[in-house]
Amino acid sequence: MKITIIGTGYVGLVTGACLAELGNDVFCLDLDEKKVAVLNSGGIPIHEPGLAEIVSRNRAIGRLKFSTDIAASVAHGQIQFIAVGTPPDEDGSADLQYVLAAARNIGKYMTDFKVIVDKSTVPVGTADRVSGAIRTELAARLPPSQASDALADEAPQFSVVSNPEFLKEGAAVEDFMRPDRIVIGCDEGGNGPIARALMTQLYAPFNRNHERTYWMDVRSAEFTKYAANAMLATRISFMNELANLADKVGADIEAVRHGIGSDPRIGHSFLYAGCGYGGSCFPKDVQALERTARSYDQELLILRAVEQVNNNQKHVMGNKIVERFGADLSGKHFALWGLAFKPNTDDMREASSRVLLAELLGRGASVAVHDPVAMSEARRVLDLDFSKTPELLERLRFCDSQMDALQDADALAIVTEWKTYRSPDFNEVRTFLKAPVIFDGRNLYEPAVMNEIGFEYYGIGRSVLA
Ligand code: NAD
Repeated sequence: MKITIIGTGYVGLVTGACLAELGNDVFCLDLDEKKVAVLNSGGIPIHEPGLAEIVSRNRAIGRLKFSTDIAASVAHGQIQFIAVGTPPDEDGSADLQYVLAAARNIGKYMTDFKVIVDKSTVPVGTADRVSGAIRTELAARLPPSQASDALADEAPQFSVVSNPEFLKEGAAVEDFMRPDRIVIGCDEGGNGPIARALMTQLYAPFNRNHERTYWMDVRSAEFTKYAANAMLATRISFMNELANLADKVGADIEAVRHGIGSDPRIGHSFLYAGCGYGGSCFPKDVQALERTARSYDQELLILRAVEQVNNNQKHVMGNKIVERFGADLSGKHFALWGLAFKPNTDDMREASSRVLLAELLGRGASVAVHDPVAMSEARRVLDLDFSKTPELLERLRFCDSQMDALQDADALAIVTEWKTYRSPDFNEVRTFLKAPVIFDGRNLYEPAVMNEIGFEYYGIGRSVLA
C-alpha cells in the first residue's frame, strides 16, 4: 500500500520503517531539513535498537523515502499518518499547532480520496479539528461562488481515523512489530467504512496469529491513549509515594513490590519505585488529560496528585544528598551515571537527571556524568537548561567511560537503569571513588550486600531497620 508518514521522530520513523519492512511503499515527510538530510545520507537521528538496519534495508530497495516536499508527500499516500509532536502548551494542554499544520497541508494538496490517521497523541475531539482544518483548505481552493455545499460533491473525499501509538522508546521496533493491541477509532457513517477497510488491509499482517485490533469510535480511541499513560504514571507515583513512607517507617519497598505484584489483580509491571518518571509522554499526557477535564469543569484529583508526587520525586535524590553532605555542596564532587530518561534511548525530555544536575551544580558541587548513548543529546539539552547560568556548566564534565566518571567523587548517584550499571566491579568502583557512597535512584543493588562490601548505600524506599 502507498503510505505517507508526516513527522519522522521516534514514532513516525519507527512507523514508517516498520510499515516499509512489511512491503508497503512509504514516503516520510519532515520539515526539519537537517533530519531529512541525515536520513538521506544513511544516518539515524535517534537511538532506537534495531531501527538502523530496517531503515537502511528498506531505503536501499526504494520502499522507504525521506523528503521535505509537502506536495509530493500528499500525492503519495492514500493513507496519511500524522505523527508530529504534541508538546505541552504553556497551560499544560496539548499544543496542536503541528497536527493542524499537517492537516492543512493535506487539505491544500490532496486531489483524491485520503485516509488521515492521527497517530500523534491528541486530546479527545482532535479528529474533528483535523477534519475541520482539511475542509477549510479544500473550501479555500474552490472559487468563491461555489459555497460549502459544493464541497460535499466536488472536493476530494477523506476520512479521519484515530490510531494512537503504544510503542515504548528503547523497544519501539519490537513493540510496533509485535503489538499487544492496535486501537483504531473510525466513524461508522460517511467515508468511515472505506477507511476501516483500508486500515484492516494495512494492519492485516499484525492480526494473522490472532485478532489484535480493537475497533471503536474515534473519541474513545483518542481517550484510550491518555487513559493508558495516566494509569501507568499513576502506578509509578503510587509506588514512589509509598517508597518515601517506607524510608521513614523502616520497610523495604522492593519486598513490598514483590508482595503486592504477586496478586494477579495487581501484577508485577510498572511497580518500580525510583527518582521519578520522565520522557516525552507521561508528564505531558497526564497534564493534557487534566487540562481536558478542566475544560469540561471536572477536576481529575488523582492525576493532579500523580503529577505532584512525580515532580517532588525528581528531588528525592537531591534531598538525600543534601541530608548526607549538607546544603552547601561547594567543593564536593559527584559522579552521575545515566542521563537519558530511561535506558535504551537517548531521549532527555523531562529526564530526572536534569533536575538532579540543576540541584547539585546550583549548590556549588562539580559533577562528572556518563551515559552510554545520550551524551550528545545531553550536551544540547543542558546547554538550554543552563542558558541563563552557563558558568555552572563549567563544573560539569562529560566522561566516555562510567569508571572515569567516578574519579575522586565524594559519591556516585545513579539515575538511569542502563544494563551496564547493574553489575559493575564494585572493587573498582570503590577504588575510583574518594569515598564509597552510592545514591541509587533506581534500586539496582541490594542494600544488605552493598553494606556488606563496605558501601554506604542509599536507595529509594529501602531503609530497612536492622
Ligand atoms: P518527535 O518530536 O520525536 O518528532 C516529531 C517530528 O515531527 C519532528 O521531526 C518534527 O520536525 C516533525 N514535524 C513537526 N511538524 C511537522 C509538519 N507539519 N510536517 C512534517 N513534519 C513535522 O515526536 P515523537 O516522540 O515521535 O512523538 C510524536 C507523537 O507521538 C506525539 O504526539 C507523542 O505524544 C506520541 N507518542 C510518542 C511516543 C514516544 O515514545 N516518543 C509513544 C507514543 C506516542
